Amino acid sequence: MQSNYQEKLSHLTQEQIEELMKRYYNNEKNDLLIEEYNIDIRSSLLSKTFPLKEHDDILCPFCNIPMLSYRESKSTSSWHKEEIFCQECSHKHNTSFCNCLNCKKNRQILQEIQLQEEQLINNKKIEIILSTFIDESEESIDLDTLTIQDKLYISALLRTSLSEDLEYINPISSTNLKLAPTQKYKTNIISYLRENNFVLFSPNTALDSVIIEDDEIVSYYPMDATFKLNIDLDNYEEHIQNLLHLDIIEDIDSELKIQLWSEIALSECLEFLYAKMEEYNLPIDYIGDKTISALKESLKHFSTSQNFNFIWRTVKNAAAFYQKDNISKKHAVNTIAGGILRSCEKAKAENWEVKGYGRDYNYPQSIISEIFFDNILEIGDKGFTSVIG
Ligand SMILES: [Zn+2]
Ligand SMILES: [Zn+2]
Repeated sequence: MQSNYQEKLSHLTQEQIEELMKRYYNNEKNDLLIEEYNIDIRSSLLSKTFPLKEHDDILCPFCNIPMLSYRESKSTSSWHKEEIFCQECSHKHNTSFCNCLNCKKNRQILQEIQLQEEQLINNKKIEIILSTFIDESEESIDLDTLTIQDKLYISALLRTSLSEDLEYINPISSTNLKLAPTQKYKTNIISYLRENNFVLFSPNTALDSVIIEDDEIVSYYPMDATFKLNIDLDNYEEHIQNLLHLDIIEDIDSELKIQLWSEIALSECLEFLYAKMEEYNLPIDYIGDKTISALKESLKHFSTSQNFNFIWRTVKNAAAFYQKDNISKKHAVNTIAGGILRSCEKAKAENWEVKGYGRDYNYPQSIISEIFFDNILEIGDKGFTSVIG
């Protein structure tokens, strides 16, 4: 306790103490004084044994008595902040972190209040998620009205992250399986399924996977939410099995076929493009609509596999251009759209036999692509090596 220092002078009279202090502030040597007055203290702490300074204007908030401070030490630099404390409870005045029992207790109480508040907020969130689930599940999907696109998207999501017990669709971010080639395409698939009420937020979805405002889920993180398929509980397992292992008998409408094939092919080209750009250290965030529309055009005339050839060559040229001509990376990336388009047009005009590339070993085929080409179109690898159509 703080008072121990003062006891070190208990063998001295009031006069002796005053004299000692005077000599101390007159710069006499500490060691000499300690010896002469027979004080049991380390030399650097001598000033702490002096009578404490009382601050009548500062009362301890807990004990309501004036707070104290030690006499200044000779060696203390002027910027050293004087420590003011309560002799009763050890509370320190104006410190950022006081460790006295009262302050500790106050901090604990505050923490408990915060925890309770958090718990209340979380309980409210759980309640809202659950009631949203109950509301939305009232109208489950009619499996007979599903289009091929609906089935494709549902099946791909189920195969990617359906839980072992078939109950939940786990967050996409928690699985190693690849729903679709790019993040954007994954988000589009999940948004589509949400907008059509095909999947619901599962009551056990992570509380921070949904954003709640005014007691309503207003937004969500598509990769992090847990979903439930919105189908009737009658024959649940059988329906799930049918959706997992699609067996499509009806012919796919040719317009829808081209739409789905195009979106998968474009997404595969973008995935390959991003991978090659990363290899050459070119930033992918400059890729925008111009490149996408160049790829769309090229995919009208050449297969995904052949487009990989154009992409690889174009990225290599952009990287060389950047290194040789001392231009910015942004400028280099800006040449990619034109490069792809030029390759495509030249190959077309000169009737080239464009060599197709294989899939990159590090980027295996996505689940949506497998289901579409193997189960729906039943053309397997030709989906990759032939032109859309
Ligand atoms: Zn106190
Ligand atoms: Zn305190």
